[in-house]
Amino acid sequence: MSRNDYEVIIGLEVHAELSTKTKIFCSCPTEFGGMPNTQTCPICMAMPGTLPVLNEKVVEYAVKAGLATNCEISRNCKNDRKNYYYPDLPKSYQISQFDRPLCEKGYIEIDTVEGKKTIRLTRIHIEEDAGKLNHNDFAGGCLVDLNRAGVPLIEIVSEPDLRSAEEVESYLRKLKSILEYIEVSDCKMQEGSFRADVNVSVKKKSDTQLGIRTEMKNMNSFRSIVRAIEYEVERQINILEDGGKIDQETLRWDDVSGKTFSMRDKADAQDYRYFPEPDLVAIKLSEEYIENIKSTLPELPESRKQRYLEQYNLSEKDANIITASKYLSDLFESAINVCNNPKSVNNWIISDISRILNETEMDPISIPFNGKQLGKLVILIDKGTISSSIGKKVLTELFENPRDPEEIVKEKGWIQISDESAIKDVVVKILQANPQSIADFKAGKDRALGFLVGQAMKETRGQANPKMLNEMFLEELQK
Ligand code: ADP
Ligand code: MG
Ligand code: ZN
Repeated sequence: MSRNDYEVIIGLEVHAELSTKTKIFCSCPTEFGGMPNTQTCPICMAMPGTLPVLNEKVVEYAVKAGLATNCEISRNCKNDRKNYYYPDLPKSYQISQFDRPLCEKGYIEIDTVEGKKTIRLTRIHIEEDAGKLNHNDFAGGCLVDLNRAGVPLIEIVSEPDLRSAEEVESYLRKLKSILEYIEVSDCKMQEGSFRADVNVSVKKKSDTQLGIRTEMKNMNSFRSIVRAIEYEVERQINILEDGGKIDQETLRWDDVSGKTFSMRDKADAQDYRYFPEPDLVAIKLSEEYIENIKSTLPELPESRKQRYLEQYNLSEKDANIITASKYLSDLFESAINVCNNPKSVNNWIISDISRILNETEMDPISIPFNGKQLGKLVILIDKGTISSSIGKKVLTELFENPRDPEEIVKEKGWIQISDESAIKDVVVKILQANPQSIADFKAGKDRALGFLVGQAMKETRGQANPKMLNEMFLEELQK
């Protein structure tokens, strides 16, 4: 049998940290990156005798997420205890939801090579995050940081509807963008605010039953997720082709070796002994409450995209990229408000900004400069104060140390040389140094002109006005 006789089946459990100001059962702040254990109290440190109080915002945000993903919202649900021991879980149980989740039976639409596809959501439930173990901080041991303990999460479970790594990426991007738009999570993947457990199995196309799956936990980079799925599919098919069996187990993806490793066996599914949380009351929601939340849902990516096509004449592809992220899309709009040049802002975002984001694996939300600064950069180029190649240097500065582009240009002495006599000096100098190019040009090799302009740009460290250089070289060469 060949690779083509197999079908890949994937289902995801996505954890998103909610951006409420305080934790789910106490009033400790949820901010990321504080000194270890400074955002804790007896409740989230699990001191005996303390009692949890449910943060109402958590329910509101989770309902918002459910409505934005076409879920049915439960009018009456509850919390449950999921019992297990782990050093970063001081209560020895996690408060989650078991048989009655807050949201159920939703779906989202994703774009695939074959067009739109519907991915069903089994459920969205609320739960608390665990703390963190810092393995590198302490010689030979490890330290526990409980700042994250009790940070609210929603877990979004999909049906096993995904069929390839590309579909998974498309699904995750869509889900992330929806959560960003409704502002319930910042979805910063590098900080673990948006992470996925990836369940993968393969089966022969002729088989009606699903195959045995493996699960890779807590993955938080698109690139790793795609690589891990491709590796895991290959591995499973090879085992089956050799007449072997897949073990149902939890795997760890290692980015360096590009392989998965077994973490723990799940053959006898872990028994969490769920039971209803006795310290919390049921969550009962009125129709009015749900309707109210529904009426606050903002413009979602799809409708923004349509607006960009009509209002700004963007291409479908560019509009897709920009509206995929609320932050990119907000950046786009606020930059246009400043410079009134949608075409140019679009180009900066699609080319240079996207490239830097890719190279540094930075989330758009972490872009350090604002739309006003981007808009001002565009104005400086439009006015001819700087060339577009200097513009790229200004953009790099904006990423490294954001400030007013005009200040950057002044401080660095990057103002474009548009003074005729200064340009002329450079042209004469470059021509003197390159007699061969003059001969080439006269022999009909037009490329020589480009070379000369390039040399002049180098000489002026990108500051000469390229249009003027071009014209002046031509003039001199045709003399
Ligand atoms: P658990 O909570 O133990 O991980 P669930 O039954 O809730 O188990 O399933 C978790 C995820 O695994 C869901 O997203 C589901 O779509 C996916 N899944 C279930 N069976 C398979 C399978 N055979 N292949 C791939 N994914 C699967
Ligand atoms: Mg699971
Ligand atoms: Zn606390």
